[in-house]
Amino acid sequence: MIIVPEKAIGELISPSECLAAVEQVFASMARRSAYNFPVIREAIGYQDALYGFKSGFDRDGPTLGLKAGGFWPHNMAKGITNHQSSVFLFDADTGRCRAIVGGNLLTALRTAAASSLSIRYLARTDAKVIGIIGAGHQSAFQLRAALGQRKFERVVGWNVEPDMLKRVADVAAEAGLPFEPVSLDQLGAVADVIITITSSFNAILKADQVRPGTHIACMGTDTKGKQEVEAALVAKATVFTDEIAQSVTIGECQHAISAGLIKDSQITEIGQVIIGKHPGRSSADEITLFDGTGVGLQDLAVASAVVDLAIAKGAAIEVEF
Ligand code: NAD
Repeated sequence: MIIVPEKAIGELISPSECLAAVEQVFASMARRSAYNFPVIREAIGYQDALYGFKSGFDRDGPTLGLKAGGFWPHNMAKGITNHQSSVFLFDADTGRCRAIVGGNLLTALRTAAASSLSIRYLARTDAKVIGIIGAGHQSAFQLRAALGQRKFERVVGWNVEPDMLKRVADVAAEAGLPFEPVSLDQLGAVADVIITITSSFNAILKADQVRPGTHIACMGTDTKGKQEVEAALVAKATVFTDEIAQSVTIGECQHAISAGLIKDSQITEIGQVIIGKHPGRSSADEITLFDGTGVGLQDLAVASAVVDLAIAKGAAIEVEF
Protein backbone atom coordinates (compact mmCIF):
# COMPACT_ATOMS: atom_id res chain seq x y z
CA MET A 1 0.00 0.00 0.00
CA ILE A 2 1.17 3.52 -0.78
CA ILE A 3 1.01 6.50 1.55
CA VAL A 4 1.24 10.06 0.26
CA PRO A 5 1.36 12.42 3.27
CA GLU A 6 -0.38 15.79 3.19
CA LYS A 7 2.93 17.69 3.23
CA ALA A 8 4.16 15.95 0.04
CA ILE A 9 1.14 16.82 -2.12
CA GLY A 10 2.09 20.38 -3.07
CA GLU A 11 5.38 19.23 -4.59
CA LEU A 12 3.83 16.33 -6.48
CA ILE A 13 0.84 17.72 -8.38
CA SER A 14 0.21 21.00 -10.18
CA PRO A 15 -3.13 22.81 -10.57
CA SER A 16 -3.13 21.96 -14.29
CA GLU A 17 -2.64 18.25 -13.54
CA CYS A 18 -5.61 18.47 -11.12
CA LEU A 19 -7.66 20.19 -13.81
CA ALA A 20 -6.89 17.39 -16.28
CA ALA A 21 -7.86 14.72 -13.73
CA VAL A 22 -11.16 16.45 -12.88
CA GLU A 23 -11.96 17.04 -16.56
CA GLN A 24 -11.44 13.33 -17.26
CA VAL A 25 -13.70 12.22 -14.41
CA PHE A 26 -16.48 14.69 -15.33
CA ALA A 27 -16.31 13.18 -18.83
CA SER A 28 -16.54 9.66 -17.35
CA MET A 29 -19.57 10.74 -15.31
CA ALA A 30 -21.23 12.05 -18.49
CA ARG A 31 -20.56 8.73 -20.24
CA ARG A 32 -22.10 7.02 -17.18
CA SER A 33 -18.95 5.01 -16.57
CA ALA A 34 -18.33 6.82 -13.27
CA TYR A 35 -20.77 7.41 -10.48
CA ASN A 36 -20.83 8.84 -6.97
CA PHE A 37 -22.32 6.98 -4.04
CA PRO A 38 -24.67 8.77 -1.62
CA VAL A 39 -22.86 11.25 0.64
CA ILE A 40 -22.79 10.63 4.39
CA ARG A 41 -22.41 13.71 6.61
CA GLU A 42 -23.07 13.61 10.34
CA ALA A 43 -22.73 15.93 13.32
CA ILE A 44 -20.97 13.50 15.65
CA GLY A 45 -21.81 15.34 18.87
CA TYR A 46 -18.12 15.60 19.81
CA GLN A 47 -15.84 18.65 19.35
CA ASP A 48 -18.78 20.15 17.36
CA ALA A 49 -17.38 18.20 14.41
CA LEU A 50 -19.10 17.41 11.13
CA TYR A 51 -17.78 14.14 9.77
CA GLY A 52 -18.59 12.26 6.59
CA PHE A 53 -17.67 10.31 3.47
CA LYS A 54 -17.78 11.04 -0.23
CA SER A 55 -17.17 8.01 -2.39
CA GLY A 56 -17.54 6.66 -5.90
CA PHE A 57 -16.23 4.46 -8.69
CA ASP A 58 -14.77 5.44 -12.05
CA ARG A 59 -14.70 2.37 -14.29
CA ASP A 60 -12.48 4.23 -16.77
CA GLY A 61 -9.66 4.53 -14.18
CA PRO A 62 -10.49 2.21 -12.69
CA THR A 63 -10.59 4.32 -9.53
CA LEU A 64 -12.46 3.21 -6.43
CA GLY A 65 -12.34 4.88 -3.06
CA LEU A 66 -13.60 7.43 -0.61
CA LYS A 67 -12.72 10.70 1.03
CA ALA A 68 -13.32 10.72 4.78
CA GLY A 69 -13.19 13.81 6.93
CA GLY A 70 -15.04 16.98 7.64
CA PHE A 71 -14.98 20.13 9.71
CA TRP A 72 -13.55 20.47 13.23
CA PRO A 73 -14.30 24.10 14.22
CA HIS A 74 -11.92 24.20 17.22
CA ASN A 75 -8.83 23.05 15.30
CA MET A 76 -7.50 26.57 14.68
CA ALA A 77 -6.85 26.93 18.42
CA LYS A 78 -4.74 23.75 18.18
CA GLY A 79 -2.74 25.18 15.28
CA ILE A 80 -4.23 22.92 12.60
CA THR A 81 -6.75 23.60 9.88
CA ASN A 82 -10.48 23.18 10.61
CA HIS A 83 -11.13 21.17 7.43
CA GLN A 84 -9.51 17.74 7.66
CA SER A 85 -9.74 14.96 5.12
CA SER A 86 -7.96 11.84 3.88
CA VAL A 87 -8.54 9.88 0.68
CA PHE A 88 -8.52 6.07 0.64
CA LEU A 89 -8.11 4.34 -2.73
CA PHE A 90 -8.87 0.66 -3.30
CA ASP A 91 -7.75 -1.74 -6.00
CA ALA A 92 -10.96 -2.14 -8.04
CA ASP A 93 -9.97 -5.70 -9.07
CA THR A 94 -9.37 -7.05 -5.56
CA GLY A 95 -10.77 -4.56 -3.04
CA ARG A 96 -7.35 -4.25 -1.34
CA CYS A 97 -6.40 -0.84 -0.01
CA ARG A 98 -4.14 0.73 -2.65
CA ALA A 99 -3.30 4.07 -1.09
CA ILE A 100 -3.95 6.65 1.63
CA VAL A 101 -3.49 10.23 0.47
CA GLY A 102 -3.71 13.52 2.39
CA GLY A 103 -6.90 15.26 1.27
CA ASN A 104 -6.67 18.85 2.53
CA LEU A 105 -4.73 20.58 -0.25
CA LEU A 106 -6.29 18.26 -2.82
CA THR A 107 -9.78 19.44 -1.78
CA ALA A 108 -8.85 23.05 -2.56
CA LEU A 109 -7.15 22.08 -5.84
CA ARG A 110 -9.99 19.87 -7.09
CA THR A 111 -12.59 22.52 -6.19
CA ALA A 112 -10.62 25.19 -8.04
CA ALA A 113 -10.25 22.79 -10.98
CA ALA A 114 -14.04 22.42 -11.20
CA SER A 115 -14.79 26.15 -11.36
CA SER A 116 -11.89 26.65 -13.79
CA LEU A 117 -13.32 23.98 -16.08
CA SER A 118 -16.66 25.77 -15.99
CA ILE A 119 -14.91 28.99 -17.04
CA ARG A 120 -12.99 27.17 -19.77
CA TYR A 121 -16.15 25.62 -21.24
CA LEU A 122 -18.81 28.25 -20.48
CA ALA A 123 -17.42 31.78 -20.11
CA ARG A 124 -17.32 34.15 -23.08
CA THR A 125 -13.94 33.87 -24.81
CA ASP A 126 -13.53 37.66 -24.62
CA ALA A 127 -13.97 37.78 -20.80
CA LYS A 128 -11.67 40.45 -19.34
CA VAL A 129 -12.84 41.14 -15.77
CA ILE A 130 -13.19 38.50 -13.07
CA GLY A 131 -15.11 39.14 -9.86
CA ILE A 132 -14.80 37.05 -6.73
CA ILE A 133 -17.24 37.00 -3.84
CA GLY A 134 -15.56 35.49 -0.78
CA ALA A 135 -12.03 35.77 0.56
CA GLY A 136 -11.57 32.69 2.73
CA HIS A 137 -9.13 29.79 2.39
CA GLN A 138 -10.57 28.53 -0.92
CA SER A 139 -10.68 31.92 -2.63
CA ALA A 140 -6.95 32.08 -3.38
CA PHE A 141 -7.01 28.64 -5.05
CA GLN A 142 -10.15 29.57 -6.98
CA LEU A 143 -8.73 32.81 -8.34
CA ARG A 144 -5.26 31.44 -9.13
CA ALA A 145 -6.73 28.61 -11.23
CA ALA A 146 -9.37 30.79 -12.91
CA LEU A 147 -6.86 33.38 -14.08
CA GLY A 148 -5.32 30.82 -16.43
CA GLN A 149 -8.59 30.25 -18.31
CA ARG A 150 -9.02 33.61 -20.08
CA LYS A 151 -6.92 36.72 -20.76
CA PHE A 152 -8.21 38.53 -17.67
CA GLU A 153 -7.08 42.13 -17.29
CA ARG A 154 -8.59 43.04 -13.94
CA VAL A 155 -9.85 41.46 -10.70
CA VAL A 156 -12.64 42.87 -8.53
CA GLY A 157 -13.80 41.42 -5.22
CA TRP A 158 -16.37 41.64 -2.45
CA ASN A 159 -16.34 40.05 0.98
CA VAL A 160 -18.63 40.47 3.96
CA GLU A 161 -15.49 41.19 6.01
CA PRO A 162 -13.59 43.54 3.63
CA ASP A 163 -10.24 43.16 5.45
CA MET A 164 -10.04 39.55 4.25
CA LEU A 165 -9.82 40.72 0.62
CA LYS A 166 -6.05 41.12 1.03
CA ARG A 167 -5.82 37.40 0.27
CA VAL A 168 -7.50 37.95 -3.12
CA ALA A 169 -5.47 41.11 -3.79
CA ASP A 170 -2.27 39.12 -3.22
CA VAL A 171 -3.24 36.51 -5.82
CA ALA A 172 -4.08 39.25 -8.35
CA ALA A 173 -0.71 40.91 -7.64
CA GLU A 174 1.07 37.56 -8.09
CA ALA A 175 -0.45 37.45 -11.61
CA GLY A 176 0.43 41.11 -12.26
CA LEU A 177 -3.23 42.18 -12.40
CA PRO A 178 -4.91 45.19 -10.77
CA PHE A 179 -7.35 44.43 -7.95
CA GLU A 180 -10.17 46.59 -6.63
CA PRO A 181 -12.56 45.94 -3.72
CA VAL A 182 -16.06 46.88 -4.93
CA SER A 183 -19.74 46.82 -3.92
CA LEU A 184 -21.89 43.94 -5.16
CA ASP A 185 -23.64 46.33 -7.60
CA GLN A 186 -20.27 47.38 -9.03
CA LEU A 187 -19.02 43.81 -9.17
CA GLY A 188 -22.05 42.63 -11.18
CA ALA A 189 -21.82 45.67 -13.46
CA VAL A 190 -18.21 45.04 -14.53
CA ALA A 191 -17.46 41.32 -14.15
CA ASP A 192 -17.59 38.95 -17.13
CA VAL A 193 -16.94 35.98 -14.83
CA ILE A 194 -17.98 35.77 -11.16
CA ILE A 195 -16.89 33.14 -8.65
CA THR A 196 -18.81 32.85 -5.38
CA ILE A 197 -16.91 31.00 -2.63
CA THR A 198 -18.43 31.79 0.77
CA SER A 199 -20.11 29.86 3.57
CA SER A 200 -23.20 32.08 3.41
CA PHE A 201 -26.70 30.81 4.27
CA ASN A 202 -28.42 33.74 2.52
CA ALA A 203 -28.35 34.96 -1.08
CA ILE A 204 -25.56 37.51 -1.55
CA LEU A 205 -25.73 38.20 -5.29
CA LYS A 206 -29.10 39.24 -6.72
CA ALA A 207 -30.51 38.57 -10.20
CA ASP A 208 -30.66 42.25 -11.18
CA GLN A 209 -26.99 42.78 -10.25
CA VAL A 210 -25.74 40.47 -13.01
CA ARG A 211 -25.51 41.61 -16.61
CA PRO A 212 -26.17 39.50 -19.73
CA GLY A 213 -23.25 37.36 -20.88
CA THR A 214 -21.82 36.73 -17.41
CA HIS A 215 -20.58 33.33 -16.33
CA ILE A 216 -21.05 32.59 -12.62
CA ALA A 217 -19.34 29.71 -10.81
CA CYS A 218 -21.17 29.12 -7.52
CA MET A 219 -18.70 27.11 -5.46
CA GLY A 220 -19.51 27.74 -1.79
CA THR A 221 -22.88 26.00 -1.45
CA ASP A 222 -22.19 22.37 -0.63
CA THR A 223 -24.68 21.72 2.18
CA LYS A 224 -28.43 21.91 2.67
CA GLY A 225 -29.40 25.45 3.64
CA LYS A 226 -26.35 27.28 2.28
CA GLN A 227 -27.02 29.88 -0.43
CA GLU A 228 -24.90 32.44 -2.31
CA VAL A 229 -27.11 33.74 -5.12
CA GLU A 230 -30.78 34.62 -5.39
CA ALA A 231 -32.95 31.76 -6.68
CA ALA A 232 -34.24 34.17 -9.36
CA LEU A 233 -30.67 34.41 -10.71
CA VAL A 234 -30.47 30.62 -11.02
CA ALA A 235 -33.84 30.70 -12.83
CA LYS A 236 -32.58 33.40 -15.21
CA ALA A 237 -29.39 31.48 -16.11
CA THR A 238 -28.58 28.42 -18.17
CA VAL A 239 -27.55 26.06 -15.39
CA PHE A 240 -24.73 23.53 -15.35
CA THR A 241 -23.42 21.43 -12.47
CA ASP A 242 -21.02 18.66 -11.57
CA GLU A 243 -23.82 16.27 -10.54
CA ILE A 244 -27.57 16.93 -10.72
CA ALA A 245 -28.43 14.78 -7.68
CA GLN A 246 -26.18 16.94 -5.47
CA SER A 247 -27.09 20.21 -7.19
CA VAL A 248 -30.79 19.90 -6.33
CA THR A 249 -30.24 18.73 -2.74
CA ILE A 250 -27.07 20.37 -1.36
CA GLY A 251 -25.99 22.72 -4.16
CA GLU A 252 -27.00 26.23 -5.15
CA CYS A 253 -29.95 24.90 -7.18
CA GLN A 254 -31.69 23.52 -4.06
CA HIS A 255 -33.45 26.88 -3.51
CA ALA A 256 -34.66 27.44 -7.09
CA ILE A 257 -35.86 23.82 -7.14
CA SER A 258 -37.78 24.06 -3.86
CA ALA A 259 -39.31 27.39 -4.94
CA GLY A 260 -40.47 25.69 -8.15
CA LEU A 261 -38.50 28.15 -10.31
CA ILE A 262 -36.58 25.45 -12.20
CA LYS A 263 -36.84 21.70 -12.75
CA ASP A 264 -33.92 19.29 -12.52
CA SER A 265 -34.41 18.56 -16.25
CA GLN A 266 -33.18 22.12 -16.92
CA ILE A 267 -29.79 21.44 -15.30
CA THR A 268 -26.93 20.03 -17.42
CA GLU A 269 -23.93 18.16 -16.06
CA ILE A 270 -20.76 19.89 -17.25
CA GLY A 271 -19.40 16.53 -18.40
CA GLN A 272 -22.00 16.67 -21.19
CA VAL A 273 -20.29 19.82 -22.48
CA ILE A 274 -16.83 18.28 -22.04
CA ILE A 275 -17.75 15.24 -24.17
CA GLY A 276 -19.47 17.41 -26.78
CA LYS A 277 -23.04 16.25 -26.09
CA HIS A 278 -24.18 19.75 -25.04
CA PRO A 279 -23.01 22.93 -26.80
CA GLY A 280 -22.53 24.89 -23.56
CA ARG A 281 -22.99 28.67 -23.99
CA SER A 282 -25.31 29.41 -26.91
CA SER A 283 -24.96 33.21 -27.19
CA ALA A 284 -22.85 36.12 -25.98
CA ASP A 285 -25.84 37.42 -23.99
CA GLU A 286 -26.63 34.23 -22.12
CA ILE A 287 -25.97 34.06 -18.37
CA THR A 288 -24.35 30.71 -17.60
CA LEU A 289 -24.18 29.41 -14.03
CA PHE A 290 -22.13 26.47 -12.78
CA ASP A 291 -23.30 24.92 -9.52
CA GLY A 292 -20.12 23.28 -8.21
CA THR A 293 -21.21 21.07 -5.33
CA GLY A 294 -18.04 18.99 -5.02
CA VAL A 295 -18.33 15.28 -5.79
CA GLY A 296 -16.35 12.39 -4.32
CA LEU A 297 -15.13 11.36 -7.77
CA GLN A 298 -13.19 14.64 -8.02
CA ASP A 299 -11.31 13.70 -4.84
CA LEU A 300 -10.59 10.21 -6.09
CA ALA A 301 -9.42 11.51 -9.49
CA VAL A 302 -6.85 13.92 -8.05
CA ALA A 303 -5.73 11.47 -5.35
CA SER A 304 -5.19 8.77 -7.95
CA ALA A 305 -3.18 11.22 -10.08
CA VAL A 306 -1.05 12.04 -7.01
CA VAL A 307 -0.34 8.35 -6.36
CA ASP A 308 0.72 7.85 -10.00
CA LEU A 309 2.98 10.92 -9.79
CA ALA A 310 4.45 9.81 -6.45
CA ILE A 311 5.34 6.42 -7.98
CA ALA A 312 6.77 8.02 -11.13
CA LYS A 313 8.88 10.47 -9.11
CA GLY A 314 10.07 7.84 -6.63
CA ALA A 315 8.33 9.67 -3.78
CA ALA A 316 5.79 7.00 -2.84
CA ILE A 317 6.03 5.53 0.69
CA GLU A 318 5.24 1.83 0.45
CA VAL A 319 4.10 -0.23 3.45
CA GLU A 320 3.01 -3.82 3.88
CA PHE A 321 -0.70 -3.79 4.76
P1 NAD B 1 -13.43 30.02 5.01
O1 NAD B 1 -14.05 29.79 6.33
O2 NAD B 1 -11.97 30.11 4.89
O3 NAD B 1 -14.05 31.37 4.35
C1 NAD B 1 -15.44 31.61 4.39
C2 NAD B 1 -15.78 32.77 3.50
O4 NAD B 1 -17.21 32.99 3.55
C3 NAD B 1 -15.15 34.08 3.93
O5 NAD B 1 -14.93 34.88 2.79
C4 NAD B 1 -16.23 34.70 4.83
O6 NAD B 1 -16.10 36.11 4.96
C5 NAD B 1 -17.45 34.31 4.02
N1 NAD B 1 -18.70 34.31 4.80
C6 NAD B 1 -18.92 33.62 5.95
N2 NAD B 1 -20.17 33.85 6.36
C7 NAD B 1 -20.75 34.67 5.43
C8 NAD B 1 -22.04 35.26 5.31
N3 NAD B 1 -23.00 35.04 6.21
N4 NAD B 1 -22.28 36.05 4.23
C9 NAD B 1 -21.30 36.27 3.30
N5 NAD B 1 -20.08 35.74 3.37
C10 NAD B 1 -19.81 34.95 4.43
O7 NAD B 1 -14.02 28.88 4.06
P2 NAD B 1 -13.42 28.30 2.71
O8 NAD B 1 -12.56 27.14 3.03
O9 NAD B 1 -12.88 29.40 1.89
O10 NAD B 1 -14.74 27.70 2.04
C11 NAD B 1 -15.74 28.55 1.53
C12 NAD B 1 -16.98 27.73 1.21
O11 NAD B 1 -16.67 26.79 0.17
C13 NAD B 1 -17.51 26.90 2.38
O12 NAD B 1 -18.93 27.01 2.38
C14 NAD B 1 -17.09 25.48 2.04
O13 NAD B 1 -17.92 24.51 2.63
C15 NAD B 1 -17.21 25.53 0.54
N6 NAD B 1 -16.46 24.50 -0.19
C16 NAD B 1 -17.06 23.97 -1.29
C17 NAD B 1 -16.40 23.00 -2.03
C18 NAD B 1 -17.03 22.46 -3.28
O14 NAD B 1 -16.55 21.46 -3.82
N7 NAD B 1 -18.07 23.07 -3.80
C19 NAD B 1 -15.15 22.55 -1.62
C20 NAD B 1 -14.53 23.13 -0.49
C21 NAD B 1 -15.21 24.11 0.21
